Amino acid sequence: AENHRESMLLVTNYAAKFFQETMWDTAEGKNIGLSYFKERGFTTEIIKKFELGYSPDHWEAFTGTAINKKYKPELLEETGLSIKRDNGTLYDRWRGRVMFPIHGFTGRVIAFGGRTLKTDKNVPKYVNSPESEIYHKSNVLYGLFFAKKAIRDEDNCYLVEGYADVLSVHQAGIENVVASSGTSLTVEQIRLIGRFTKNITILYDGDAAGIKASLRGLDLILEEGLNVKVVLFPDGHDPDSYVRQVGSSAFKTYIDQNRKDFILYKTSILLKEAGNDPIQRANVIREIVESIARIPDSIKQSVFVRECSQQLQIDERILLSELNKMRLAKS
Ligand code: ATP
Ligand code: MN
Ligand code: MN
Ligand code: MN
Repeated sequence: AENHRESMLLVTNYAAKFFQETMWDTAEGKNIGLSYFKERGFTTEIIKKFELGYSPDHWEAFTGTAINKKYKPELLEETGLSIKRDNGTLYDRWRGRVMFPIHGFTGRVIAFGGRTLKTDKNVPKYVNSPESEIYHKSNVLYGLFFAKKAIRDEDNCYLVEGYADVLSVHQAGIENVVASSGTSLTVEQIRLIGRFTKNITILYDGDAAGIKASLRGLDLILEEGLNVKVVLFPDGHDPDSYVRQVGSSAFKTYIDQNRKDFILYKTSILLKEAGNDPIQRANVIREIVESIARIPDSIKQSVFVRECSQQLQIDERILLSELNKMRLAKS
């Protein structure tokens, strides 16, 4: 099995080389792939560091070349690089897309995300590798290999939604950044971050989906005993578009000035939604106490009880008694 995984890794890493060479050394790659990344503002340094590439806009360009080089068809299929037709022949999963290799813990390429250059709404924006023996997406964070040292040094991990966000934020000099890319955050991903730091700062998109995603995923982080802060971007912006608009130094200032503790952030959003309706406000209080109850550390719990009681304008003792009821119900 270990041999088999190794054979799969040889194929995915060959593919990463192929997509890179296509981008840097062919006319199609330079004119379409490389210019796309340059127009997005990525530097040569970051493009090379993250080993970005381009897949030719032909049905069998990669598959054909790989087979000529004696890579086994079964491995091309198992790694998801090629797809089998009904007649048994193989074709390329990614055609005419810019390629983001996904690196495993030790820096080898285990999968890809490929972005279309078309604006057609019917074409999926990103196509990712399927699950395989070497790629379990719930255990992987995009960019972690390049971020782990900085995460440990800074004792904080920034979490973003997309590939481009990781690249732009990294390029801006904030290297402790990873993405869950395409899946909602999993417990495995949180534990992976927890090996390097107990502090996560969420930089999600400033759209309704981003906000909802942050409320959903974050209770999970609290349960794992990590501290969560949230930075929300102006509506319509994600970290990538925002850093490009304002530049690295204003971006860093924005993050530092708009960092909110998750519980307080959640409280303010829910309160806004509830308006003046007393029943809805009561529900907000219950939901917030539920979040606080997930925190394993009772000292932290009491700090949040105090802060939330101010924000909710409700007596601390009432929150505490709700919290105790919830603890009893759990045990
Ligand atoms: P870009 O800036 O390149 O337009 P983005 O990263 O801002 O892309 P979002 O629409 O915000 O794109 O999506 C966030 C992430 O979700 C993507 O980076 C990608 O990992 C994943 N994703 C988006 N669309 C799809 C899709 N159709 N299939 C699978 N994953 C997707
Ligand atoms: Mn989004
Ligand atoms: Mn984006
Ligand atoms: Mn986005």
